[in-house]
Amino acid sequence: MLSMLRSIIQEVNGALNLEEALNVIVRRVQEVMSTEVCSIYLLDEERKRYILMASKGLNPDSIGKVSMGYSEGLVGLVGVREEPINLEHAQEHERYRYFPETGEERYESFLGVPIIHHKKVLGVLVVQEASNVRCFDEGEEAFLITVSAQLASVIAHNEATSVIAGLTPTGQSAKDISFKGVAGAPGVAIGRSVVMFPLADLDAVPDRNSENIKEDILAFELAIKSVRSDIQRVGSRLSEQLRPEEQALFDVYLAMLDDNALAGEVRDQINSGKCAQSALKNIINDYARHFEMMNDAYLSERAVDIKDLGRRILSYLQENDHSAREYPENTILVSDELTATMLGEVSRDRLIGLVSIKGSGNSHVAILARAMGIPTIMGLVDVPLTQLDDKELILDGYNGELFACPSDDLRSFYYHIVEEEKQLDQGLEPLKTLPCETTDGHRVAAWVNTGLMTDVVRSLNQGAEGVGLYRTEVPFMINERFPSEQEQLACYREQLEAFAPSYVTMRTLDIGGDKSLSYFPITEENPFLGWRGIRVTLDHPEIFLVQMRAMLKASVGLDNLRIMLPMISNVNEVEEALHLIYREYHQLRSEGFDVSMPQVGVMIEVPAAVYQVRELAERVDFLSVGSNDLTQYLLAVDRNNPRVASLYHSFHPAVLQALYSIAKDAKEMKVQLSICGELAGDPVGAVLLMAMGYEALSMNASNLLKVKSVIRGIDLKWAKDLLESVLLLDSPFIIQSTLNLALKEAGFGRYLRPGKLKDD
Ligand code: PEP
Ligand code: MG
Repeated sequence: MLSMLRSIIQEVNGALNLEEALNVIVRRVQEVMSTEVCSIYLLDEERKRYILMASKGLNPDSIGKVSMGYSEGLVGLVGVREEPINLEHAQEHERYRYFPETGEERYESFLGVPIIHHKKVLGVLVVQEASNVRCFDEGEEAFLITVSAQLASVIAHNEATSVIAGLTPTGQSAKDISFKGVAGAPGVAIGRSVVMFPLADLDAVPDRNSENIKEDILAFELAIKSVRSDIQRVGSRLSEQLRPEEQALFDVYLAMLDDNALAGEVRDQINSGKCAQSALKNIINDYARHFEMMNDAYLSERAVDIKDLGRRILSYLQENDHSAREYPENTILVSDELTATMLGEVSRDRLIGLVSIKGSGNSHVAILARAMGIPTIMGLVDVPLTQLDDKELILDGYNGELFACPSDDLRSFYYHIVEEEKQLDQGLEPLKTLPCETTDGHRVAAWVNTGLMTDVVRSLNQGAEGVGLYRTEVPFMINERFPSEQEQLACYREQLEAFAPSYVTMRTLDIGGDKSLSYFPITEENPFLGWRGIRVTLDHPEIFLVQMRAMLKASVGLDNLRIMLPMISNVNEVEEALHLIYREYHQLRSEGFDVSMPQVGVMIEVPAAVYQVRELAERVDFLSVGSNDLTQYLLAVDRNNPRVASLYHSFHPAVLQALYSIAKDAKEMKVQLSICGELAGDPVGAVLLMAMGYEALSMNASNLLKVKSVIRGIDLKWAKDLLESVLLLDSPFIIQSTLNLALKEAGFGRYLRPGKLKDD
C-alpha cells in the first residue's frame, strides 16, 4: 500500500491543475481499492455546499453540477463530524440520501473520509459499492485516511492557484484570499506584486565545449563587468540605508567576481575547453553545493546568493534583455527566497512591501527589512508563487498575512489602517517630550529595544527614555566572523553615547534557538531547548569575556551601561556570569581604565526563572521579563512556527499569572523590574503590565508613543480594575476581547493592532 500511496502522490504532484489532480486521485484510488465508485466532493464555502468535483463510477455529466448542503447526506455528515464514516449498509443510516442525478445506483456500502488542511475541511473523499455489500476493513479505512491527509495540501495548493486567478475550485469568484506567514517587519502595504523570478536558468545550460575559447573568455569578461556594475549600482542605492557591515555583503559579491575567486575558476575551465555557459554552470553549482552541505544555516543559505550571482552572469552571457525593469509605484516584491541584493533592485520610494516564501522573522533579509522599515511577511505557506506576479495584494506585516483578490471592504479596511497609522503618527508627535505617566501621576519608564544603528535614530526621534534591551546578537549576526573587541567597543560606544545619560541595557550574546551565527554553527534536534543564550557564552568564556571587556570599556566616562543575562534557568548561571563580569571589571581597572561597575540584571524568560525570582533578585540589580520566550516556553509553542502561531497567546491566563507573580515577588524583593518582550509595546498589554507593577516598559520604537498616549489617558485605578477583571477569566480569547473592549470604551480603539481590530 505504501508504494501505491507514493506513486499516487507522485502522479498527483505532477498534475497540471486541480481538476487533473482530483481525477488522478479518484482513478487511482478506485483502482487500488477495487471499488465501484470513488468520488471527491469539495466544499464551496460561499454557498455552504459540497460540490461533486471528480468521480470514477458516477455519471461524468454530473461533475461540477451535483451538490449537497453543508450537512446534507452522509457526505455532509463526514464533513461536520470531521471523521471517517464507514457503513456496510449505508441505506439503513438515517442520513442516507439518494441522488439520482449523479447516475448512481442506490449504493449499499459507503466509506467517506474528510479532507482536512490546517484544521479546515476542504472536502470529502468517498468510496462506494452499489452492487455488493462490502465491509471496508480497517486497513482500507486507514489507506483512505492517509491518501486524504497527503492530498489535502496538494488540494490546498491547487485551490490557492485557482483562487489567485480569481476563481474558487468550484467555479465561484474568489475574494480576500488570505495566506498566513510569519510577521517579518510591521506595517501594512497595499500594492502591486512583482515576483522576482530567477534571471536565467542555470540548470538548463547544456554541457558543451567551447568553439572559440578567446571569444568565450571575452564574453565572460563582459558579463562579469556588467554584473559588477549592477552590484555597485544596487550597493550605492542602498548605501544610505544600510550600515557598513550590511553593505559589506555587496563587497563579498564583488570579491567573488575577482580572478582569484569564482571568476578565475570559470576562466580556467573555459581555457581548458568548456564553453563559457557550461563552465559558469559547473563552477556555480560546485560553490553552491559546497555551501549547501555546510551544517550552519547562515552559510548554507549563502548558496542562494551564489546561485543568484551565477544567474546574473548567465543572463548577460545569454544576452538577455537587461533594460531596467519598470517597477510600479507601490511595489510589493515577492520571491521564493528574498536576498539582500533583491531589495536594492527596486528604488526605496517604490518599494512598499516584501514577501518571502522561505525564511522566518529572524532571517538576515528580515533583519534588513526591519532596518529599512519595509512591511514584510516571511515563511508563507501554500502560496503559488508563479501565479502571484502583477496582482493587487494587501500585505499585513503585523499579523504576517497576505491577501489576494481583495474585496472593496477589505481594501478600504486596510486603506483606513494605513491612513489612520499616518494620522496617528502625526497626532502622537507632541507626546515625544512628555513623560509616560497616568492622569493620577503614576509614572513608568518608556524604553526601547534596539539592535541596528537605524533603531537608535528612530528611538531618539520617538523620545525614548533609555534602552531596555540592546540585542547584541544583531551586530554579531551581520558579521562574517566574531567581531573583535575593538569592533564591538565601537558599536557599543555608539549606543551608549547616543542615549547618554539614559541607561542602555546591553544583553550579553543571545544566540542559539533560531538565532544562528554563520561562523559558529549550532545544529541541534531541539534548538529552543538546547544550547542557547547564557548557556553558550558560559561554555565559551573567551567570547563572553571579550564582550564584557568591550562593553565596560565602551562605558568609560558615560557610566550608563547595564548588563543583562539572557535565558537564565538557575542561580549558578548568574553567579558564574557575575564572577566573569567582576573579573573583567577588576582586570580593566588594574590596566588603568576608569570603568565603573555597571548594574547587572537577568532576563526572566523561562518558567524556572519565574519560580526563582526571589533567589535571582538576591543576586542582581534588576530583572527584565522576556515575554516572547516566556510565552513560548509556558505555552510550549514555537514562536517562529507559522503552524502553531494561533496558539501563541500573549494574553493566555497562564502568561498573565506568571507575569503578575514575577511582579509581586520582585516588589517584595525591592528589585527593579522591567519587561522587554513584544507585550510591552502592545498598548493594552502595557496597561496591564503597569497595573501589575512593572516599572519600565521596553519596546520597539514604533509603539512607544501609542503606549505613552494610552497610559497618559488613564488612571492607575482604571488599569488595576481592568487587571483584576481579566485575571478572573480563563480563556485567552475572552481576555483579548475584554481588553479590546475596555480600551475602545476608554476611547483608544484606534490603538489596537490592525489585525485585532478586524477580528472584533
Ligand atoms: C524575549 O524573549 O522576550 C526577548 C525580549 O528576547 P528575544 O525576543 O530577543 O528572544
Ligand atoms: Mg528571548
